[in-house]
Amino acid sequence: MTDPPTARAARQLLESLERSGVTHLARASEPQLPEPDAPEPDAPEPDAPEPDAPEPDDRQVTPSGTGESSGGLEVLCDEVAACRLCGELAKTRTQTVFGVGDPEAKILFVGEAPGADEDRLGEPFVGRAGKLLDQIIEACGMRREQIYICNILKCRPPGNRNPTPDEAGNCRKFLDGQIAAVRPEYIVCWGSVAARNLLDSTETIGRMRRKFFEYAGAKVLCTYHPSYLLRNPSAKKDVWEDMQMLFADMGITLKSN
Ligand code: URA
Repeated sequence: MTDPPTARAARQLLESLERSGVTHLARASEPQLPEPDAPEPDAPEPDAPEPDAPEPDDRQVTPSGTGESSGGLEVLCDEVAACRLCGELAKTRTQTVFGVGDPEAKILFVGEAPGADEDRLGEPFVGRAGKLLDQIIEACGMRREQIYICNILKCRPPGNRNPTPDEAGNCRKFLDGQIAAVRPEYIVCWGSVAARNLLDSTETIGRMRRKFFEYAGAKVLCTYHPSYLLRNPSAKKDVWEDMQMLFADMGITLKSN
């Protein structure tokens, strides 16, 4: 008898985690994420008001993987590096920031756009917000390398302003190409720019979280951007609830208190 899809997904994830040396997943409590000591300068949660309070691990990291997905990603990565569709961004960027992680990941993260650190290092989520994202990933019993991480925009908007609709539109084929190559089962949109652009919505992130949307065959969960959490640590519990919902859908319990 074959497993139902949810049980299969959970079993595959558990096997993958076990191969990577993860021995347990359950948490005794909400993860202890560090408190910020200064406002995050690089990736402001850009929009509208936030709501009231409240497999195998030897896969290579893109773009140097060897599988079918990574081959497609390598081609896309080269196209992104050569792209000059957004004149201002092409002029002001240090380099493009494509994406990183497992080219066959079950979970794909989408952020907003590179900040100063990402522009300098060429990798998404490597600044203060990225460090917090890494801690969230670890609190879920995973490693950054097991997820595919990318952004709506592949170039840093000067001064970390919000991406314009034209810029997001120009970059959309690259994001869609990444999703088509990775074929994740789950997509997490971090922050309202990611959520609104991916899902073509005008809702606040507060109204988009706590439910699954569908995009390109994946279940999509929206939650607060790590930069928002740096400024509003009380929202960490909401993000943890969202992670619990995500992992519960895969048949994995991330315990709360
Ligand atoms: N914020 C984002 O949305 N993406 C990054 O890569 C870094 C900060």
